Amino acid sequence: MSRPATTRIDLHVHTNASDGTLSAKAVVKLAAQLNLEAISITDHDSVAGIDEAQAAASSLGLLVIPGVELSIDKGGSEIHLLGYLLDHHYEPLTRTLKVLRDERLDRVKEIVHILNQMGYPISLARVRELAGNGSIGRLHVARCLVEAGAVPSIKEAFARLLGRNRPAYVPRYKLSVEEAIELIKSSGGIPVLAHPGLLGDEGLVSRLCDQGIAGLEVYHPDHTEEQSTYYRDLCTRKGLLITGGSDYHGPGAREGAQLGTKGIDRSELARLYQSKGLELSISGQNY
Ligand SMILES: [Zn+2]
Ligand SMILES: [Zn+2]
Repeated sequence: MSRPATTRIDLHVHTNASDGTLSAKAVVKLAAQLNLEAISITDHDSVAGIDEAQAAASSLGLLVIPGVELSIDKGGSEIHLLGYLLDHHYEPLTRTLKVLRDERLDRVKEIVHILNQMGYPISLARVRELAGNGSIGRLHVARCLVEAGAVPSIKEAFARLLGRNRPAYVPRYKLSVEEAIELIKSSGGIPVLAHPGLLGDEGLVSRLCDQGIAGLEVYHPDHTEEQSTYYRDLCTRKGLLITGGSDYHGPGAREGAQLGTKGIDRSELARLYQSKGLELSISGQNY
């Protein structure tokens, strides 16, 4: 079954509270221009963009769903877990996210140190400037390397230096699967496995479902049509929730797709709300 290329509900959006290039306010403005009905702000290890997005959306008739994207360590490989409809002011959540962001900074310091020793003239101060108030990460180091003329593109920065098994790769402390699921659940949220197609391990996806993941991100720019169909069927078989989104990182970003090009429909979003005992209301209509 084919889906239209555009959607009105995009549940995977980054802002400059992590490694997106647009502010939460600018993302909301763009979403309204594109006539979207709902977006979820899902920044890496941060919920800092949500209040700004909700404030900006209130007069535009756009629904902003609180979300987050956590990085998890699973046997040395990285898994992303999305959390939806959580209480983003819940103190244990914001405290843990702060620890994760501090760890991010330590890691970036280490990466810059290695790059400097290799002769790359970049400064931590500049990388921090590029990150602004957002969750600092390798993408900001990559942007700095490009800016310094050390590599031709962000893609090359990862391929040559920053990617796994490359000379400036530094592993990062991450939550375990159990910790991340528990953190999202205790914050009142719904844990959803992000872009399962990128894991390339169906056994692992299945085991994660058994560990308490409540849904799968079926629609994602890196999924083929076949993968989306496969995961949608898997959700139906296992009684899991279906989500989707563009993984938008801003105009011209390395990752993700354009805002509103991947997502779900109203009935799928309504099921997400129903799973929390909530009623979805869009433009005054309840679902
Ligand atoms: Zn991700
Ligand atoms: Zn993402």
